[in-house]
Amino acid sequence: MRYVSTRDASGGPGLPFCDILLAGLAPDGGLYLPETYPQLDAATLAAWRRVLTEQGYAALAAEVLALYIDDIDRDDLDALCARAYAADTFGSDAVVGLTDLGGGVHLGHLSNGPTAAFKDMAMQLLGELFEYELERRDETLTILGATSGDTGSAAEYAMQGKERLKVFMLTPAGRMSPFQQAQMFSLDDPAVVNIAVDGVFDDCQDLVKAVNADLTFKAEHRIGAVNSINWARLVAQVVYYVALWLMATTRDDQRVTFAVPSGNFGNICAGHIARAMGLPIDTLVLATNENNVLAEFFATGVYRVRGRSETHATSSPSMDISKASNFERFVFDLLGRDAAAVTELFAHRLPLTAEFDLSGTEAFATLADRFGFVAGTSSHADRLATIAAEHARSGVVIDPHTADAVGVARALASARGLTEPIIALETALPVKFSATIVEALGTDVPRPERFAGIEDLPRHVIDLPNDAPALKALIAGT
Ligand SMILES: *Cc1c(COP(=O)(O)O)cnc(C)c1O
Repeated sequence: MRYVSTRDASGGPGLPFCDILLAGLAPDGGLYLPETYPQLDAATLAAWRRVLTEQGYAALAAEVLALYIDDIDRDDLDALCARAYAADTFGSDAVVGLTDLGGGVHLGHLSNGPTAAFKDMAMQLLGELFEYELERRDETLTILGATSGDTGSAAEYAMQGKERLKVFMLTPAGRMSPFQQAQMFSLDDPAVVNIAVDGVFDDCQDLVKAVNADLTFKAEHRIGAVNSINWARLVAQVVYYVALWLMATTRDDQRVTFAVPSGNFGNICAGHIARAMGLPIDTLVLATNENNVLAEFFATGVYRVRGRSETHATSSPSMDISKASNFERFVFDLLGRDAAAVTELFAHRLPLTAEFDLSGTEAFATLADRFGFVAGTSSHADRLATIAAEHARSGVVIDPHTADAVGVARALASARGLTEPIIALETALPVKFSATIVEALGTDVPRPERFAGIEDLPRHVIDLPNDAPALKALIAGT
């Protein structure tokens, strides 16, 4: 399998998986996608059903990944997946799970990993893949990232203890939830450096950009990233769509709808890919919070990037985005893989006007039929009402992001006649966002044993002014 950039109209040969693994963006500014999506037939799905039940999630992951990765030996790939999806990392061999919430909606559990958010599902594999490829090339990598919550901690827990990796993670001082801070800052590993920047999240991101703009420094210190545009993260996520579909069905032609709380369009992009591979997915329900860039596009055909002042801080904070970094991948497929058209929109039009308009095009008119997307928006009040209603109905407490998906899915289900079962993806455990749970239910959720008392552990964090030279000095160890 070879990979091409969404902006490469040359039709030239693509790159193998391991070459794009360590690269972020393509040199032309586009995102990598496989040249084709491998097609699943009934026999493959039947075989995978046995693999999942008899051997567990890690074995299924290797089956799916082998379709996309042909430059890693199958034995090595099996071993990588076994390490990434170990039962003691995710609590069971099944790794993911399903709970019936009633009324045709099921919860797809993706948050059993070390940091209690679905980001672990991709990041654990990424850690193994990076270590493997760096070893093979005899190289090292310095991950530099900015986080307002879930990505940073998932990256740190996945990269810790890996000899060829070092992580510098910037966080806005005092702005993450106490639980999120404790989760990151309690990590005691010399290769993981937590940095609290005197500023907001955007300042942290600007610092990362400033360091990356210094190409000499970047090359000298082998600076890399683990952000959500990395193809390996997406393909890792395709696996759980397959696993949850297998768990929710008994026949190999049975269709399922997925509801996905969305921000950067990473999670649901994996659903789009699974559907394009022929996994029997009926509808992909995209849920946003008040930052509804994506819901607006699917309703109107207009994609309008928000400015800082228009980006709301909400109670589902991991979906507070101003533009969706993976969206270009979907648009590439939507426009029939026309790289010149994608370049026109993303490299020329967006920087100029911060929006483009596909309404009135044939591609947009046929979008829902061809790709199965519907979208909706959820507000703070909706989130609270959904958390309370689901708790009253089934006794299950869901986190605010998951509530956005469940609420939008229930609202659309009857209006659109969506196929049952609907699987709403649980992207975090409620314990991470207890303030909103208390607001919705009047009481807190019991804390899982493994997170008991993490706020009391010693904190490992360095305070830093909002200053790029200071950050570079820290990375350089001077
Ligand atoms: C990252 C995240 C999301 C959004 O996922 P995308 O892939 O960016 O669309 C939703 N919920 C939680 C809890 C997250 O951490």
